[in-house]
Amino acid sequence: MARKTVIAGNWKMNKTAAEGKALVEALKGLVADVCPARAEIIVCPPFTTLGAVAEAIAGSNIKLGAQNVHWEKSGAFTGEISADMLKEAGVEYVIIGHSERRQYFGETDATVNQRLKAALNAGLKPIVCIGETLEERESGNTEKVLAAQLSGGLAGLDAEVVAGLILAYEPVWAIGTGKTATPEMAEETHRFIRSFVAGEFGQAAADAITIQYGGSMKPENAAALCAQADIDGGLIGGAALKADSFAALVKNAIAAGQA
Ligand code: PEP
Repeated sequence: MARKTVIAGNWKMNKTAAEGKALVEALKGLVADVCPARAEIIVCPPFTTLGAVAEAIAGSNIKLGAQNVHWEKSGAFTGEISADMLKEAGVEYVIIGHSERRQYFGETDATVNQRLKAALNAGLKPIVCIGETLEERESGNTEKVLAAQLSGGLAGLDAEVVAGLILAYEPVWAIGTGKTATPEMAEETHRFIRSFVAGEFGQAAADAITIQYGGSMKPENAAALCAQADIDGGLIGGAALKADSFAALVKNAIAAGQA
């Protein structure tokens, strides 16, 4: 079944409002010929850069995402942000459960599940991150870890909702390290994720769900990764911080994904 290629740039704690605006102003021209019916292009700036980027991408084929969302609507949660606040800023997508949130900020599968439900209730489109550490892979526990992250993270969701989700499979050992999973290794894991979704939520949800790969994806390796049957695009860190590298990656990914 043909799924759209979805490429999201996770800017992490990079780019002031002025820098972010300059990046997307350059990116807009470079990806103007990408047809939104074939591919989604998303940028996920830090919170204080969202407004400037929203303004700069208005009317273009670039969509706005955020990097986190809290499950409560408002209240005493210092440093957090609500789904309604993101919506007001023009945000359409939100990354949930990135490995850096899990590693440095105590994110768990249970909090991923709470954030995910709040995002869905507000009409945001979540990008749910899962992935194993090097130690977990080397000890043969990759599938067990991913199964637990999926069971906990997606708990209580209906199959129709799962069908519309974006998952990002990001082996933690490949994030920001320059070490990419080989296309075959990534495909094997993506196939496992899709079959796990089929087992829990049915084949229709598994066929429809978008599964991105993330971890040192670059313009040079995007085609080989996105040519794999179960890889539907990428969540990109480092290579999303420059307009030319992100645009080249987007184009290579789309061409390979739809070849
Ligand atoms: C990420 O942080 O989601 C990521 C994939 O980073 P990088 O592309 O830099 O490995």
